[in-house]
Amino acid sequence: MTSDPNDIIKNVERYLMQQRDLFGNIIYTEEKKPSSRDSASSPVRYPDEEWVNADSLDELRQRTCTCLKCPLGHTRTNFVFGVGNPHAEVMFIGEAPGADEDAQGEPFVGKAGQLLNKILVAVELTREEVYICNILKCRPPNNRDPQPLEMELCSPYLHKQIDLIRPKFIICLGRISAQWLLQTTSSLTSLRGRTHDFHNTKLIVTYHPAALLRNPNWKRPAWEDMKMFKALYDAGKKKD
Ligand code: URA
Repeated sequence: MTSDPNDIIKNVERYLMQQRDLFGNIIYTEEKKPSSRDSASSPVRYPDEEWVNADSLDELRQRTCTCLKCPLGHTRTNFVFGVGNPHAEVMFIGEAPGADEDAQGEPFVGKAGQLLNKILVAVELTREEVYICNILKCRPPNNRDPQPLEMELCSPYLHKQIDLIRPKFIICLGRISAQWLLQTTSSLTSLRGRTHDFHNTKLIVTYHPAALLRNPNWKRPAWEDMKMFKALYDAGKKKD
């Protein structure tokens, strides 16, 4: 066993390359093609696929919406890409579409979405101003949690969305998106209430609106999170 970080990285790379040889080049490429403005400067390692070159969200949606990389593609009604301002300063990221979102093709349109709309109003923002999307673009059956392989296969689309939008703030709605983006197993309680750095973008973690519907006691700390965000957002506006 080695504890040298370089050896560990080499071992992981070797493992991923073996997986690629076995299962095809869907997750990992040794070298990222610097073919698009945004992905060229991104710290994200993209798969060697056509959609990586998309120059706009519309193009990205068109190139990805027929995705069948994981089984969820076969059971979805709609690919739920994301909605909002392509130049948004704030991105809200949930976990995965539910039944309403799957039916309508838009994230956060069910009961949790209605609460998210109220949260936006409370911080003087609108759905049109911000960008809203999920880690997964397709609905997991019976609203179960996204599985690691599903997130592994789907999250490059989200990273590309982030690269194209270049938001100033990312707000993770709930544990799943926070843990995935920050690559941590820390609890939501320990992640909320402060800012994190996500590739030079401020990332804030708060409760998922569906959790707030189930447990109204969390509404107060969630409001504290949003007030913290709003203060930082307004301070940034003054500087601009
Ligand atoms: N929950 C999510 O995480 N995302 C949605 O789009 C809807 C509910």
